Amino acid sequence: MTIITKTIQIKSRGENDMIDMTKQTSRLLTESKLEEGLVTVFVSGSTAAISTVEYEPGLINDFPDMLSRVVPNDIEYKHNETWQDGNGHSHVRASLIGPSLTIPFKDGKLMLGMWQQIVLFEMDTRQRTREIIVQIMGE
Ligand code: ZN
Repeated sequence: MTIITKTIQIKSRGENDMIDMTKQTSRLLTESKLEEGLVTVFVSGSTAAISTVEYEPGLINDFPDMLSRVVPNDIEYKHNETWQDGNGHSHVRASLIGPSLTIPFKDGKLMLGMWQQIVLFEMDTRQRTREIIVQIMGE
């Protein structure tokens, strides 16, 4: 078995930015020349998340709308008392969605559905440069 670990830097535009990472992840898999295994995509940081979504204009609005219903930004968060940074909701949202995703691959291709993209969700209140770790394990 081989393990290859790569990092990708992605600049976000701030809160509610959703960035499709499918092509970059597929390219790293192709470069690895591995045929079968698992790819883990992980964002290091506590105010961003990674999941899958159908990357189309409707859902690019629906997903942040859902987040604002489930984790509103206009209620009190104790985190804001700790650091005065005003992003308590960003941390809670990021933890809810989670920082990583594992995708199986076979015949050198990610086993994603046709309408299933790998997406980085920026949840912080400001622009950030994110470091994404892509770790490929397989043979
Ligand atoms: Zn914070």
